[in-house]
Amino acid sequence: MPEAKAMSEPQKALVKMGLARDIDLALHLPMRYEDETSIVRLRDCREGDTAQIEATVTASEIGYRPRRQLLVTVDDGSDTCMLRFFSFYPSQQKALAVGTRVRVRGELKGGFLGWQMVHPTFKPAGGELPSALTPVYSTVAGLPQAYLRKAVLGGLGRADLSDTFPPGVTETLRPVVWSLREALAFLHQPAPDVPLATLEDRGHPAWQRLKAEELLAQQLSQLQSMREREVLRSPALAAKPGGLHEQLLAALPFQLTAAQRRVGEEIARDLGRGVPMHRLLQGDVGSGKTVVAALAAAIAIDAGWQGALMAPTEILAEQHFRKLIGWLEPLFAPRGLRVAWLTGSQKKKERAEMLALVASGEAALVVGTHAVIQDQVQFRNLGLAIIDEQHRFGVAQRLALRDKMKETGQEPHLLMMSATPIPRTLAMSYYADLDVSTIDELPPGRTPVVTKLIADSRRDEVTERIRSQVAQGRQVYWVCPLIEESEALDLTNATATHEALSAALPGVMVGLLHSRMPPAEKKAVMSLFTGGQMGVLVSTTVIEVGVDVPNASLMVIEHAERFGLSQLHQLRGRVGRGAAASACVLLYSAGEGGRLGETARARLKAMVDTADGFEIARRDLEIRGPGEFLGARQSGAPLLRFADLATDIQLLEWARGLAPLMLDRHPELARKHTARWLGGKSEYLKA
Ligand code: ADP
Ligand code: MG
Repeated sequence: MPEAKAMSEPQKALVKMGLARDIDLALHLPMRYEDETSIVRLRDCREGDTAQIEATVTASEIGYRPRRQLLVTVDDGSDTCMLRFFSFYPSQQKALAVGTRVRVRGELKGGFLGWQMVHPTFKPAGGELPSALTPVYSTVAGLPQAYLRKAVLGGLGRADLSDTFPPGVTETLRPVVWSLREALAFLHQPAPDVPLATLEDRGHPAWQRLKAEELLAQQLSQLQSMREREVLRSPALAAKPGGLHEQLLAALPFQLTAAQRRVGEEIARDLGRGVPMHRLLQGDVGSGKTVVAALAAAIAIDAGWQGALMAPTEILAEQHFRKLIGWLEPLFAPRGLRVAWLTGSQKKKERAEMLALVASGEAALVVGTHAVIQDQVQFRNLGLAIIDEQHRFGVAQRLALRDKMKETGQEPHLLMMSATPIPRTLAMSYYADLDVSTIDELPPGRTPVVTKLIADSRRDEVTERIRSQVAQGRQVYWVCPLIEESEALDLTNATATHEALSAALPGVMVGLLHSRMPPAEKKAVMSLFTGGQMGVLVSTTVIEVGVDVPNASLMVIEHAERFGLSQLHQLRGRVGRGAAASACVLLYSAGEGGRLGETARARLKAMVDTADGFEIARRDLEIRGPGEFLGARQSGAPLLRFADLATDIQLLEWARGLAPLMLDRHPELARKHTARWLGGKSEYLKA
């Protein structure tokens, strides 16, 4: 075996950054540019400028307050500036000896003592000035900017940048679009006379090209995976007249809404096709997705297959379990079928029993948490996999569920559910290979939830309100924010609130639920609340997903400004589920200046303005970008680097239109294009 050539530190760092191929380097665009083309005079500078000056060192000393630092004063003839270095080598100190002329570059801070620069870069004065702007790349430790710059230019020189757009296509794009080669050369190596603003203008033809390329790659790979799925087999499941599906419908204590019927038919059509369903069922909080899922499961079960329902938390899974048992078990019993329950906290013995039920097929329906996808779980014949709150799960988990029937060469149908409506642009770009069904109507008899913004200083009034709700036999949620950096702090906060409310509301059972509690304890608290004995439930965000207590009429959210809009909307959806007039109180804590920040205000105002989940999702996207919707950190799907869904909708539509044509007529170009842009990552997009 030939000995592998040892990689240098920077080489390793390049690989770690995903910059292994020449094309990856070429597509690693500068995050900004530095203007090193001119020397400025201190007198002409403004606070915050990044300035390059040439000056003479007039003083150099080591200071000790507040900590050890090298303090160098320079004078450029127009003014003086203090350079501060908190870490430095003797060689640097020598290079900055009094009398030396240096070229210094850094951010200027004004102040009481005059100009300062902290850790500026410097070199001897008088060297040649570059004629063009200098690109600055995002990098990691161990990969110096200069090395990376060279590597990128090398990659740019070697990479195959030949056009992958089919002939004649570039002309259909507006405004004028450059070739990939031109675009990359422009952005990596700006010509001497290109102004910074032009490079940063994402409407520029160079940027248009990169965005168009990126969006096309994304659309192509999703379309590709959709077509690959079309050749896979799944059982064709048809609803039987008079079967389980009809019986369940008849047994429900309510009529389906028109929207529920419509999406139910869409799902039933997919199930009947013998090709794996890959459908997202979205519907606002409380729109009644669970029963639609149960009806789909009934079709699968009636056809002799198993259904699985996976939920992200134990509480939610348990709630589904109870509901489904209530609906289905009376219908199952005469058929000798069972519902199995799988979670991480289960006792060994119970778990073993459940696993046996699943393996034998006696459990026609399996409900649980992540435990459902573990290796030991062997289905007899899984026909339909349902994932609730799908954005809470990662790609790997979705794949694991789909792979459960791998040995048989078949795939289960997949139904994903989400209460976070995906805005149209996102659906088009990230979920292009997904069919979407939308429940756009709430069951009748719900009263709209009144939302109020109240300053934290008026907590007492809120407590009064809670008292009166509980006196009327209603129940109340109080949600404390989860502070990501400090779970301990988050707990202290929730505990303190719990104590204060308990003291203020004698005779009322006030419960506490937080993420660190053992599952059994959580369950106990939850069942007291669901059962109605507990009047107030103080909780960290664990109740965010899916709990259903129709008697709850007031939702108080503390530090509402720390939550995302969609999260707030989900929380608010926990009330207003019954006939009682319900309210949501958003307690906000004004910052130091006594005022709420601009963004926080806009967010909270959106909550007061609208109860429409789609509108809220749209605003959330505007304020925070797509990451939240995609669960980006876990999804593995590469987020768009260049295109921006808020502004590039036209390019997105263009790419969507071109992708199928390209796959059909220019498959070789299509393959080359996705390989260039996605390399090995395209597998991930298939999930
Ligand atoms: P979500 O879509 O948020 O998951 P659920 O499925 O939990 O909503 O449904 C919310 C509540 O509405 C549940 O109590 C459910 O039984 C009830 N429900 C669902 N569909 C209807 C309907 N058509 N009419 C009346 N109540 C319904
Ligand atoms: Mg739900």
